Formats: sequence, structure tokens, C-alpha cells
Amino acid sequence: MNVVVCLKQVPAKIKIEIDPKTGALASGGVDRAINPPDLYALEEGVRIKEKTKGKLTVLSVGPAKADESLKEAIGYGADEGILLCDPAFEGSDTWATAHILGKALGKIGEFLLVICGKQSIDGETGQVAAQLAEALGAPFVPLVNQIEELGETSIRVRRMSDEGHQVIEMMLPGVITVVKEINTPRIPSLRGLMAAKKAVIPVWNAQALGVDPAAVGSAGSPSRVARVFFPQRPGKSEMLQGDPEGQVGQLVDRLRQARAI
Ligand SMILES: Cc1cc2nc3c(=O)[nH]c(=O)nc-3n(C[C@H](O)[C@H](O)[C@H](O)COP(=O)(O)OP(=O)(O)OC[C@H]3O[C@@H](n4cnc5c(N)ncnc54)[C@H](O)[C@@H]3O)c2cc1C
Repeated sequence: MNVVVCLKQVPAKIKIEIDPKTGALASGGVDRAINPPDLYALEEGVRIKEKTKGKLTVLSVGPAKADESLKEAIGYGADEGILLCDPAFEGSDTWATAHILGKALGKIGEFLLVICGKQSIDGETGQVAAQLAEALGAPFVPLVNQIEELGETSIRVRRMSDEGHQVIEMMLPGVITVVKEINTPRIPSLRGLMAAKKAVIPVWNAQALGVDPAAVGSAGSPSRVARVFFPQRPGKSEMLQGDPEGQVGQLVDRLRQARAI
């Protein structure tokens, strides 16, 4: 069975910085890594590939340096990684990103299942996978925590919901997102690391994908970021003085005053 995993490269450090002028995420000079939730998608893809003797392809829309994450994915067991990169893609929102991924899947042609992470740790919209399913005209199940059965025409999955678990059968080809409860990602083997080192990552640009530059980038993105900011903490802090008992008394007074306001 041919499986495709979509993987985003994100800043390796947790603290996200925002360019105060543009409101965009500041990515220059920051170490990059595979979006951590995508490691669960990748592990699930590798397991399916091993079980079904199929092929696992990993796709990423990103800058030239994103090929490092695709090579890393080969280290984990993917057969190939394809970078979707073109200056025309810059400024793409989630809709345009999903459009690019959809075009790449159209070019790949033969696949039954697309696996995405739950969300990215930087953009964090959790929208790309659903929009990709829409672009493909394919069914979609989010937040899968177990694949119960996988056939040539359908898949049965368990997904988390607020009430508990749902068991859903979906026709294939289709798209799922997975949560961290689905598996424990492996540590790449020495053989995998060697394969990653030697891997050559093809780059598909707008022309190769048949993507109209007007349908992607800022021009083709239906959403606009009006403002991005870290919330300012209102109020001031105050250190209470005196012995512990006196401090408790002061604290109770302050809380009473605050409640009275
Ligand atoms: C107006 C606007 C302009 C933007 N301009 C830029 C820009 O110039 N440069 C830039 O880097 N970002 C830009 N972005 C952000 C970019 O659109 C998002 O980072 C991207 O679409 C992914 O969204 P997300 O991070 O919320 O992913 P989510 O929807 O949270 O990701 C869910 C899953 O989808 C898959 N996925 C997400 N992104 C990718 C990807 N790129 N490749 C493969 N799989 C993926 C992964 O499996 C991931 O776990 C812009 C966003 C907006 C709204």
C-alpha cells in the first residue's frame, strides 16, 4: 500500500518569535526540525509500509532547507521525500499550502492513505489536513489514535472525541490526522541514518506541479494575518513583607479588596 505523510519543518526551539514589523513568524537563523506531531504520522506510515510492503513518500511545502527534515524522515524509514518549493509559494496560507500538497498528490497519483500530524507547533491552526482532503475530494478523519483495520478500499480507525472514542470506517483514498497516543516513534537505525545521508531530495516547483502562481502565495491566499502579538500581562506584582502569618493576613486582605471591586 502506498502511503503519503505530510510533514512540516518548524523552528526547533519552543519559544516562537514574531517579527514586530510584519507580524510573521521570525524564522531566519533559527534551527529547524520536523514538527514533533508529524513524527507520529511518520511512524504510522513506516509501520504500514513495513506491514504491507508498500511505499512511503513524505511531502513538505517549505524553503530549500526543509530538505533536511525530509532526509531525516528517510532515516526513520520513508522511501522517498519530495520538497515542494518555489518562490511563488512564499506567503501561502493554509488553504494555499493544502492546494500545493493536493497538486503533489495528484502528480504522485497512486496512493491510498495520507497521514498528517494533528497540528504544527508554530502555525497551530490544525487546518491543513482538512483543507487537503477538500482539495483532493477525499474523506477525512481527524485525531486518530488507532488504526484498527486497513484494507485496499477502506480503513477502520478509532478517534478521540470529547465523549470518549469513536470508531469510524472510511473509504480510501482518504486523509487522516493522528495524535500522539497512536504510537511511540522509533529511533532511526544506523542503516536508516546512512540512507538519510545519501538521500537526494527532488524538488517540485510550481511548474512541475502545474500550480498556477496566482493560486498560491499571498495573492492566492484567502486569509490575511491582521495582527499577531503576545498578550501583555496587565497589573503589577507586589512582594508581601513580614513574617509568614502576617503575609497570609495581608494576602487575605488583598483578595477581599479585589473581590469587593
Ligand atoms: C496570510 C498568511 C501568510 C503566510 N505566509 C507564510 C510564509 O510566507 N512562509 C511560511 O512558512 N508560512 C506562512 N504562513 C503560514 C503557513 O500558511 C502555515 O504555516 C502552513 O499553511 C501550515 O499551517 P499550520 O502551521 O497551521 O499547520 P497545521 O494545519 O496546524 O498542520 C497540520 C498538519 O498538516 C501538515 N502540514 C502543515 N504544514 C505543512 C507543510 N508546509 N508541508 C507539509 N505538510 C504540512 C502536517 O502534517 C501538520 O502536522 C502564512 C500564513 C498566512 C495565514
